[in-house]
Amino acid sequence: MTRPGRAGPADMEATVQRIRAAVQAHSRFFEGAIPLIASENLLSPYAKELLISDFHSRYAEGLPGERYYEGNQWVDEVENLCLQLARDLFRCPFADVRPISGTVANLAVLKALTEPGDRVGSNRLADGAHISSASFGAFGLRGVKPVHYAFDPVRMQLDVDATIKILRTERPRLCLFGLSLFLFPFPLKELAPVLQEIGAVGWYDGAHVLGLIGGGEFQDPLHEGMTVLSASTHKTLPGPQHGILLGNTEDPELIHKLQAGAFPGVTSNHHLNAMAALAVSLAEHRAFGEAYARQTVLNARTLGQALSERGFDVLCADEGFTRSHTLAVRVEREGGGEACAQALIRSGIVTNKNLLPGDKSPRHPQGIRLGTPEVTRLGMKEREMVRIAELFDRLLHRGAPPEDVAREARELKSGFTTLQYCFGAGEAAYRYYELVGRN
Ligand SMILES: *Cc1c(COP(=O)(O)O)cnc(C)c1O
Repeated sequence: MTRPGRAGPADMEATVQRIRAAVQAHSRFFEGAIPLIASENLLSPYAKELLISDFHSRYAEGLPGERYYEGNQWVDEVENLCLQLARDLFRCPFADVRPISGTVANLAVLKALTEPGDRVGSNRLADGAHISSASFGAFGLRGVKPVHYAFDPVRMQLDVDATIKILRTERPRLCLFGLSLFLFPFPLKELAPVLQEIGAVGWYDGAHVLGLIGGGEFQDPLHEGMTVLSASTHKTLPGPQHGILLGNTEDPELIHKLQAGAFPGVTSNHHLNAMAALAVSLAEHRAFGEAYARQTVLNARTLGQALSERGFDVLCADEGFTRSHTLAVRVEREGGGEACAQALIRSGIVTNKNLLPGDKSPRHPQGIRLGTPEVTRLGMKEREMVRIAELFDRLLHRGAPPEDVAREARELKSGFTTLQYCFGAGEAAYRYYELVGRN
């Protein structure tokens, strides 16, 4: 029997070139686009450089100084620095930088602090929770049962009194606070005494808001009664795709459990290149994070106001739209979340459709979610937020052709070519939307 369709080296080289070309086309698209995905951001030049360093090729299982492989001397140096930077930035005694994503960090916490069958407090997906707290996500994988809090969809906020009643009745062992559509800080100070009363551990999922916390905006969960914080490091924290665990605890047993949750619980090697890039990002956040976080939130509130003035139903107008980097817009009148997000991408404006509380069908969300981290990193300020709202209005209310809006979006974007809030971005050769050269 002959093996069918066996490609020769020449075919495969052509395939390699096709892959490179697709990545280049992607980079060119994003270079001319207005990026408004709330969970996305741009990596600084020094951080990005380390992603393709030799750290990528190595293994370092265990903790610095206690590795299983040789050759880790400099990895240990960098990981110790990374841990110190994380503990300093978030003012807490415990950090672990080995989870390779936010979801993996959440799995590490579940592995460390629960047994299958335990009850864990969380929000519903329709109220903005992440899939890791769903039965078909990490919660289901660990076999824990969600206890859902009461949520007020008008204020996009926990209903504190009703939630306290639920906590006292259901007595979950662990309580998770954190959302993917995260507009307002949670009332943690009011809930912390109830957690203590029922003996539950407070767990904050700061995937979306880690960079705001580090920049002194939003809330400071580890100093408002939460014991553990898990997060992604690439959303508002403009770091590499990676995860982190932080803890306001010096209890050696709890620390050991969390560390064992990360390794060997849910990783063997971690991604050393990303860990090194994270160390750079944390140092840059200590230098620039406050100004960046302030501008990110200001931009979100300004964009919310400008869209609202142009007839868009931006949620929580009475609350000032948001206290974070994120906005939720109900686009029922504009044709629904999917139609709007698709019209916007044809105009070079990148968003996502999003479930909103009260949506009748999870398959047909009536909302879109917008975020300002990436445009803020590019140096956009209030004036540009108003221009972006004008593009939305022209496209979705006034019937402007998508090509015209796309041209205006590209023109707006072309004025913002240098990354802000980081070191080394002024270097002329640095093009942050691409890694591979153009040819
Ligand atoms: C994005 C997100 C995560 C998971 O992040 P990944 O790094 O993509 O795995 C976890 N929790 C919340 C609330 C998120 O929004």
